Amino acid sequence: MIIVMSSGNEENVAHVVSRVKELGYNPHVIVGVERTVVAAVGDERGKERLTSLEALPYVEQVIRILKPFKLAGREVRTDDTVISCSGASIGGGHFAVMAGPCSVESREQMQEAAEGVKAAGANMLRGGAFKPRTSPYSFQGMELDGLRILRDVGKMHGLPIVTEATTPEQVAVVAQYADMIQIGARNMQNYGLLRAAGKVKTPVLLKRGMMSTINEFLMSAEYILSEGNPNVVLCERGIRTFESETRNTLDLQAVPVVKLNSHLPIVVDPSHAAGRWDIVIPMACAAVAAGADGIMVEVHPHPEEAMSDGQQSLRLSKFKRLMDTILPLLEATGKTITQPGARNSDA
Ligand code: PEP
Ligand code: MN
Repeated sequence: MIIVMSSGNEENVAHVVSRVKELGYNPHVIVGVERTVVAAVGDERGKERLTSLEALPYVEQVIRILKPFKLAGREVRTDDTVISCSGASIGGGHFAVMAGPCSVESREQMQEAAEGVKAAGANMLRGGAFKPRTSPYSFQGMELDGLRILRDVGKMHGLPIVTEATTPEQVAVVAQYADMIQIGARNMQNYGLLRAAGKVKTPVLLKRGMMSTINEFLMSAEYILSEGNPNVVLCERGIRTFESETRNTLDLQAVPVVKLNSHLPIVVDPSHAAGRWDIVIPMACAAVAAGADGIMVEVHPHPEEAMSDGQQSLRLSKFKRLMDTILPLLEATGKTITQPGARNSDA
């Protein structure tokens, strides 16, 4: 249920919050541009009790949330959510460019990658330290050493970092080092992991499962939001189809569909969708045209030496070309890339 406040007065909101708790529901205060609402989520049975709150003078209306995703939906918030990630903003006209290698492999590799992507205009640095690999015999990532390298290099270049946590136990350590926690496609429905990511305040990049519907994608976001972390960025990264020319099929329709249904920002990862570097630039352009709030692109200074996903990684010169190609499109669609200053977090 949504309790629409007629006033955003803090004391009044606090009173509604405590009444919602007394009635056995979890309150989530959502301050939008036009109105403040308190979303009361919990067991649907007995929700009529919440309607009694309409008698309060500062409550305008109590309405039912019709969609299954309560906090991720447009019903609780009509304007776009803007996520702040240590100086980089995502959503509501702010376009994020998260670039870097699939895996952190060495300090030198990350230095070269960070310097190149920063110079080309990226505003976030990516790199996997805990890698979810299809084969147990493949490189599994540098783990803690990788996190340290990523943090140091990110700081040095003024780039907030995004990196994956693959288990609930890794969430705390990743949150300590990173500015954004990535939940990978293979873990989109790992509910323990989603709940753990919901218990911190660090922004979360939630990738769509390769066999998940848009509805399931939004329900996974709901898990994170319902635990109290409102900082969720969605990422479309391609789904499995019968097509074999590409690794996955980039479902760009997900972008406008998500935008109609949800206030959360959505970025697009053309690298994992394509599985080949030579179509990444046109698909990044298509993502901008579809209304995405950002892109995540795999960039490696020497793709032929990459320990993972080299075949889909852009070399730095190609990434520069990608940026030069999308900049006029961003201008035409009214989007800007906010460059962060110094990073805030100090692990
Ligand atoms: C990645 O970002 O390196 C990754 C493993 O992506 P996905 O979870 O989308 O496959
Ligand atoms: Mn990868």
